[in-house]
Amino acid sequence: MEYRIGQGYDVHAIAEGLPMWLGGVQIPSEKGFVAHSDGDVAIHALCDALLGALALGDIGHLFPDSDERWRGVDSKELLAAVLDLPEYRQWYVVNADITIALQAPKLAPHIESMREVLSEVMGISPKRVSVKATTTERLGFVGRGEGCEVWAIVLIARK
Ligand code: MG
Repeated sequence: MEYRIGQGYDVHAIAEGLPMWLGGVQIPSEKGFVAHSDGDVAIHALCDALLGALALGDIGHLFPDSDERWRGVDSKELLAAVLDLPEYRQWYVVNADITIALQAPKLAPHIESMREVLSEVMGISPKRVSVKATTTERLGFVGRGEGCEVWAIVLIARK
């Protein structure tokens, strides 16, 4: 059995009056993420982890923000497109582990929905998708509520 591991990282700034999408789920909030797409920073980190596992570059390279096709795009479509790449035909996702750093709002009520949505897009069991959330104890740009930071790690195996 051949395995590959990939990691991804992304940050988006927070601003008033924007929708907050995380892990494919809309989080009730008066603030959201500044982005060319829907700003789903968790899915962006996950996409970069999947691309990293096969050394395929990053989502900025695949879906450039200079391209109007990706304006306001649902990031679930980007995730599906990554797994639809010809290079991914020989591989499947064993598991994914995502850590979201956000000061507010609390994400605990939304974690299970994110696992459901992400696993459905990836075509795997929610048991194979971990989503964890933390604050940064009010430290740094995350702690000041200026941004959201996400790390993702995936393991993939050859079919
Ligand atoms: Mg991003």
